[in-house]
Amino acid sequence: MLGNATTCEEVVAFYLERIHQQQHLNAYVQVYADEALEKARQLDASRSKGLPIGKLHGVVIGIKDVICYKGHPVTAASHILQGFNSTYNATAIHKLLTEEAIIIGSLNCDEFAMGSSNENSFYGNTLNALDQERVPGGSSGGSAVAVQAGLLMVSLGSDTGGSVRQPADFCGIVGLKPTYGRVSRYGLIAYASSFDQIGIFGTNVPDVARVLEVISGADEYDSTVSTEKVDDYVKSLEDTDKPFRIGYFKDALEHPALDKEIASAITDYIDQLKVSGHSVKSIDVDFLDYIVPAYYVLTTAEASSNLSRFDGVKYGYRSKDKSLELTEFYRQTRSEGFGKEVKRRIMLGSFVLSAGYYDAYFTQAQRVRQQLFDQTQLLFKDFDILILPTVPSSAFKFGEKSSDPVEMYLADIYTVYANLTGIPAISIPLFKHSNGMPFGLQAMTNQFCELSLLQFAQHLLHPQALTV
Ligand code: GLN
Repeated sequence: MLGNATTCEEVVAFYLERIHQQQHLNAYVQVYADEALEKARQLDASRSKGLPIGKLHGVVIGIKDVICYKGHPVTAASHILQGFNSTYNATAIHKLLTEEAIIIGSLNCDEFAMGSSNENSFYGNTLNALDQERVPGGSSGGSAVAVQAGLLMVSLGSDTGGSVRQPADFCGIVGLKPTYGRVSRYGLIAYASSFDQIGIFGTNVPDVARVLEVISGADEYDSTVSTEKVDDYVKSLEDTDKPFRIGYFKDALEHPALDKEIASAITDYIDQLKVSGHSVKSIDVDFLDYIVPAYYVLTTAEASSNLSRFDGVKYGYRSKDKSLELTEFYRQTRSEGFGKEVKRRIMLGSFVLSAGYYDAYFTQAQRVRQQLFDQTQLLFKDFDILILPTVPSSAFKFGEKSSDPVEMYLADIYTVYANLTGIPAISIPLFKHSNGMPFGLQAMTNQFCELSLLQFAQHLLHPQALTV
């Protein structure tokens, strides 16, 4: 283990050794070993001269393979982006580097962040370190396993419909999706632009809070990012001994898709929260069965448009067949370059946007989204926190759901709500299933209330007496 006077170089060497030992987990796509060691030496030298240190000085971070890091490959775990290097830094990366973080590598995920099991990656499956026959979750599976298996300190993922919270739940760690517009999307490869948000994985809440504080905030390169002030998340993390007003969706806990053991663990936990002085009330909602369809109509529509740029001319892979005329060349490159799930979504998205079906699907789904947003805003007049399970089951086995895409989609029932409404959400690792796997509790607050969300999560993981 590492001693008191540990240097950044020793820390990086420690993680490189662990990455080497745990290669079979397939969490990393790229490891920047020499570069990370060099950066660590530079940090050690500047610190020994007594120069001021950054907020993330020496923090070893990995990034999902959908975030651009200048001069490094970024492929969205897809064949179609093989050979492509980022020509600029994502804003989140720029901010991490400014605060002296060390980026140690890029992490495996489902192709273009589409999936819930990491089974859709060009690089093969990432394994759950707690049971290698089980999926780590997706789409940010590599980012979750890297934290779970101690292959770095914290990691970045992206969350369009649960891709940070669901793998965090399956791996027994903390996963935060910030408010839509809290963190710049500049340099994040787009899946569904009105849903996508960079999120953070860690073993504890303070680590996640610190990274959030660094990467949040206004950005001239992303007009959807908010100018709302960034709170002092770390300093104020423990500044709460007041009870929270908590709401939970009764129908969600009684839903037939929910594993019985998860339902009873969360129900018991709700009783405990009441006993410890919080106000906890049940909420009746009627939207649960609409949210997954609305999510898949809207995200596939956006994806079909976003992914049209990958045509073999501008980026990465191109078909080897030189005899093709232009349209045929696009068709061939895209057929060879995209995997099955990505193609399915491009087709679904093109269908729901097509002239005869636009109103029936796309417009209708947008209406659902608007109503959901309005209802949610009303709920936050009465509640500080909304709670839900994160996922209806604990980590399932490889192959268990991959032959049935609809079954896989339906398992997103508890996570897509926060993306449809843009609110922040966190998965808090609190429980263990009798099958040996962990699972979490999901908490949500209103937009830009990440501070109380993090305070709540910290409070649950480290309970303190309340002043009622
Ligand atoms: N499982 C969801 C999907 O496949 C979530 C994806 C994500 O958040 N990137 O769309």
